[in-house]
Amino acid sequence: MGFEETAERRALRSAVAELGERYGYDYYVRQARSGGQTTELWREAGKLGYLGVNIPEEHGGGGAGISELSIVLEELSAAGCPLLMMVVSPAICGTVIARFGTDEQKRRWLPGLADGSLTMAFAITEPDAGSNSHRITTTARRDGGDWVLSGRKVFISGIDVADAVLVVGRTEDARTGKLKPALFVVPKDAPGFEAQHIEMELVSPDRQYSLFFDDVRLPGDALVGSEDAGLLQLFAGLNPERVMASALALGTARHALGKAVSYVKERSVWGTPIGSHQGLAHPLAQVKIELELARLMAQKAAHLYDSGDDEAAGEAANMAKYAAGEVAVRSVDQAVQSLGGNGLTTEYGVASMLSACRLARVAPVSREMILNFVAQNSLGLPRSY
Ligand SMILES: Cc1cc2nc3c(=O)[nH]c(=O)nc-3n(C[C@H](O)[C@H](O)[C@H](O)COP(=O)(O)OP(=O)(O)OC[C@H]3O[C@@H](n4cnc5c(N)ncnc54)[C@H](O)[C@@H]3O)c2cc1C
Repeated sequence: MGFEETAERRALRSAVAELGERYGYDYYVRQARSGGQTTELWREAGKLGYLGVNIPEEHGGGGAGISELSIVLEELSAAGCPLLMMVVSPAICGTVIARFGTDEQKRRWLPGLADGSLTMAFAITEPDAGSNSHRITTTARRDGGDWVLSGRKVFISGIDVADAVLVVGRTEDARTGKLKPALFVVPKDAPGFEAQHIEMELVSPDRQYSLFFDDVRLPGDALVGSEDAGLLQLFAGLNPERVMASALALGTARHALGKAVSYVKERSVWGTPIGSHQGLAHPLAQVKIELELARLMAQKAAHLYDSGDDEAAGEAANMAKYAAGEVAVRSVDQAVQSLGGNGLTTEYGVASMLSACRLARVAPVSREMILNFVAQNSLGLPRSY
């Protein structure tokens, strides 16, 4: 494994950065505050092939991997446009369908997910299960050749922009005990499917929803993969999700650090730039170090995933997500501090990141659940729950 990015990846990085800068954080915040979406940027990124770099070429994608897709999201986020649905639509749904879908499912969904003309949300979280996915109760029962799906989900992103949702449920004969997940594509207009917007205190154009499935009838081919494949096919989507959540957090950390550094170089209240005072310089240097360390782990996780080692990718993806979430929070917090009063103004656009950056600590898997995973799987410690 080399530590130098290939010329191709560097070119992708700079082309995406250029696109992101054309939109920038002002665009992102304007859309968020006006109740708009990031459709123009999404469409343009899709047309340029950036949203589908990981989708197989025969289905309209770039034929590369999660390494490349995470470069796209990191650069857009660093430019101030963290497109949350990239974590979901091409990374989770695109991967799961490409790896386990039928030929028909691939034909139906992958070209659209790749060019951004179709978007798919992903729903695993349930109100009564939360971090404990083994407790999910959304259930599919067979009825003739169809499936009938019932249950509830919460905090599901992007239903307003999605065409369908990839829902994690369990089949009726696997209703209790350890999770044996089964994945279903549910079109947004399916009778019995309803979504309710959840008000969030995040400055973000991405909205979250509660979902209700009331005997939603689905055709037999709504099932993606096998109902007996268990956790394997779910984790095929969840590891890319963690790598992509890391990329979004790293880009956010870079964006905040960039704003702080340029401010402290200019601002002077004792005759020298405030960035020369170690009280500001050291915490910013610390953010830079932690950012680079988290980035290395995210690149390792993406590399392991792309080379087919799902198990090793799992440990690295969790560690990367933890480190990236922590540095995103620290970077935004230090940026606010570095700008003093301006750090809290609307004009400087730093305080508006304060709550959104915390998302990286909570989702898609919380800081505490990653620490649990590392304690148990990497250190072999017993669990308390
Ligand atoms: C903006 C946003 C977007 C989201 N988008 C999606 C989406 O698109 N699709 C989707 O399926 N989900 C989504 N989620 C849900 C997200 O994945 C969950 O919020 C997250 O997994 C935590 O679950 P919970 O909120 O139920 O918290 P809980 O499980 O109730 O946990 C609450 C707190 O307790 C801690 N905790 C729980 N168990 C333990 C334990 N054993 N040991 C130590 N601490 C513990 C947690 O770490 C957390 O700090 C989104 C959430 C947000 C906020």
